[in-house]
Amino acid sequence: MHTLFVSDLHLSHDTPKIAQNFLALLHEQKSQIEALYILGDLFEYWLGDDGITPAHSPIIGAIKAISDAEIPVYFMHGNRDFLIGETFANQCGAHILPENTVIQLYGEPVLLTHGDLLCTDDTEYMAFREQVRNPAWQTHFLSLPMDQRIEMAKQARDVSQHSTKEKSMEIMDANLASVKNTMNSHSVNKMIHGHTHRPAIHDFKLGDNQAHRIVLGDWKEKASFLTVSKTGYHLSDPRWTS
Ligand code: MN
Repeated sequence: MHTLFVSDLHLSHDTPKIAQNFLALLHEQKSQIEALYILGDLFEYWLGDDGITPAHSPIIGAIKAISDAEIPVYFMHGNRDFLIGETFANQCGAHILPENTVIQLYGEPVLLTHGDLLCTDDTEYMAFREQVRNPAWQTHFLSLPMDQRIEMAKQARDVSQHSTKEKSMEIMDANLASVKNTMNSHSVNKMIHGHTHRPAIHDFKLGDNQAHRIVLGDWKEKASFLTVSKTGYHLSDPRWTS
């Protein structure tokens, strides 16, 4: 038995193949897992739980099948789907975890986070994040008619795509000092996150201790996941070296 971690599927109506791969993975893993963690950016965008349509049913159904089997399912917001709310979570039978959650994983404290908070070199994004994570901003946004929300999301995406092209890869990666600070402040030597689409297991020194940062991959090419058991960590497709 093991624990399954995924992130960064970026599902949308344009990605039927990724949805298929996700359903296949859940189906295949169901009898072997004791918990499922979805660490953000399950969806490419989320404009509010009132935007749930029948097109979401297969995904909701597949996650619900896991929780119906009494396997706990945890969901953390990503920078794309941070507006996922309790309605969606309840339909999936999932619990929403706050960002930066420490769990006990096979006897060891492990910090879970989506990963965007670690990309502190991207000051432009950090300012945007502060705005959209503000509860008052969110309440206002969610009160707007859906077509207006769609329009605003499109604009935000165009701006982000434009500026992403101009930023270096380093700026958009996790900042090592932020990684170390975050791990120290949560008293952990292990951290799991996604967001950067650079799947890897990084080993490094944290004070006197050996620390590990496990980065989950995106699903653009194929299913990408992490399994953790008593015997260790296994990343399905490590693509990045430290
Ligand atoms: Mn992300």
